[in-house]
Amino acid sequence: MIKMVNVSKVYQGEVKVRALSHINLQIDRGEFVFIVGPSGAGKSTLTRLIIREELPTSGQIIVGGRSLPRLKEREVPLLRRKIGFIFQDFRLLMERTVYENVAFAMEAIEIPRSTVRERVPAVLEMVGLKDKMSMYPHELSGGQQQRVCIARAVVNDPLIIIADEPTGNLDPDNSWDIMRILAAINKRGTTIITATHDREMVDKMKRRVIALSDGEIVRDEERGTYRNEA
Ligand code: ADP
Repeated sequence: MIKMVNVSKVYQGEVKVRALSHINLQIDRGEFVFIVGPSGAGKSTLTRLIIREELPTSGQIIVGGRSLPRLKEREVPLLRRKIGFIFQDFRLLMERTVYENVAFAMEAIEIPRSTVRERVPAVLEMVGLKDKMSMYPHELSGGQQQRVCIARAVVNDPLIIIADEPTGNLDPDNSWDIMRILAAINKRGTTIITATHDREMVDKMKRRVIALSDGEIVRDEERGTYRNEA
């Protein structure tokens, strides 16, 4: 599903920053992977490479059978359609209802109205928000807003979900709810990649853990824990 071969990323600013060095990894279909590591370790860069928001300075990246550096600009939207995103700061449209926020993700890729009307309530039910469809984001708690984001991320049935610190703004109870929903989505076959600082969650979930430090993979374990690399 995702393969990186000898991937390095150097940001060419006034000062050069080597954000990732010689990354080799493979993530198969249906895996649930935590990317952990201290701030600045390269977690966001890794996820931005997968969605082709950045190109590697060197090395090969293959997502869903396509080489990302070789992908033409006009092919990028097609790649992104296969990927759902969940952000720490939710990024909901504040002047639109819960229903409209999720429907918007489908309308953006021209899914027929009748499918939208069927599918949006179904995914909102899955995340436990069917009775909140006509509310606005500011009327919801942080945990509920994040569940809207999950609904929006899964509504087009992506192959991969990438979550960047999805529980970063949530209390432990809400965080646990979010992880349970992600685990349920994973069980249906969607690959899930979560960058996180949430030590307790990683230790509880016992999934694959890829640990980054200074742009290098320092650990890659099935059923891993958070741990300190110090
Ligand atoms: P993390 O997500 O683990 O905090 P990042 O991938 O954001 O790590 O950052 C890795 C390194 O790359 C850091 O040193 C950071 O300052 C640098 N970096 C990230 N994005 C940019 C950018 N757009 N331009 C220059 N340097 C960047």
